[in-house]
Amino acid sequence: MTERGTETRPTILVVDDNSINLKLLEAVLSPEYLVRQAAGGAQALSAVETGDPPDLILLDVMMPEMDGFEVCRRLKANPKLRRCPVIFVTALDEETNEELGFNLGAVDYIAKPFSIPVVRARVRTHIALKKQADLLEQLSHVDALTQIANRRCFDKMFEQEWRRETRDRKSLSVLLIDIDHFKEYNDHYGHGAGDECLCRVASCLARSVARSGDLVARYGGEEFVVLLPDTDAKAAMGIAERMCSGIRALNIPHAYSSAAPCLTVSIGCATTDPAGADSPQRLTETADRMLYRSKAAGRNRVTQP
Ligand code: GH3
Ligand code: MG
Ligand code: MG
Repeated sequence: MTERGTETRPTILVVDDNSINLKLLEAVLSPEYLVRQAAGGAQALSAVETGDPPDLILLDVMMPEMDGFEVCRRLKANPKLRRCPVIFVTALDEETNEELGFNLGAVDYIAKPFSIPVVRARVRTHIALKKQADLLEQLSHVDALTQIANRRCFDKMFEQEWRRETRDRKSLSVLLIDIDHFKEYNDHYGHGAGDECLCRVASCLARSVARSGDLVARYGGEEFVVLLPDTDAKAAMGIAERMCSGIRALNIPHAYSSAAPCLTVSIGCATTDPAGADSPQRLTETADRMLYRSKAAGRNRVTQP
């Protein structure tokens, strides 16, 4: 596998057990794309789990040990790889197989023996679509992995709410949430399980807020942030405690955490003083300081000033 480095060409992973096909596709595609190769299903799966996912996968169907359909099924079950487009390249041209491929989430089919101009044209189309989807995602307010709001969305809402709450002299609370010993979790259970875990934590947190103005966002990595408009310190503490116990109740085993036998979070809570001269930065700094105190006091808890 070639490292990406400063390479800007789109990446294509070609999966085929036949080395002649691999070489041919590489020769056809390499002028425009960075081509990686995998000689089997297992090799393909391990190639995509490390590093950046490719922009497109050309996947042979008939392969010994693990066929292309199974590879596709596993890719689509992985939240990080779900968006990676798959084109089946196959001699199996019966309709039922094509249907199975599309049902598994493939974007296209190329029949073997393939015509080189057709391969080039289809690949170009799907790479262009993928680039558009990437761009939309960059502009969007949704975190690709967890499907909750992202940092950009939080920043925008925070600014709006700050203006509103200071004008109306209402309390505004912010919670910063960080998963405890998540590095250990990834190291022992694998990055895929880690991603799954982030999704479960995100939806649990999102379920824990009730009002339409409340916002739960992924702040980055294994950190989440919650914006609670018109919420005083006491109410914010109640919500934070509910989130903390909600995550414990998911009962996700974490045998390598010193905080508990299951996955837990630490939370820092901060609330504006309606009469005071706070700033949005001060508020998140306070939440961050309180989060640090929760960590230092043994994790799996909520702290507020
Ligand atoms: P602490 O209790 O002090 O917060 O310890 P920690 O291990 O959670 O904190 P640390 O900052 O050392 O490690 C954070 C880990 O979160 C490391 C990183 O691999 C993992 N992580 C961040 N983003 C992702 C992600 O998108 N997916 C997965 N699987 N892991 C992630
Ligand atoms: Mg962290
Ligand atoms: Mg952490």
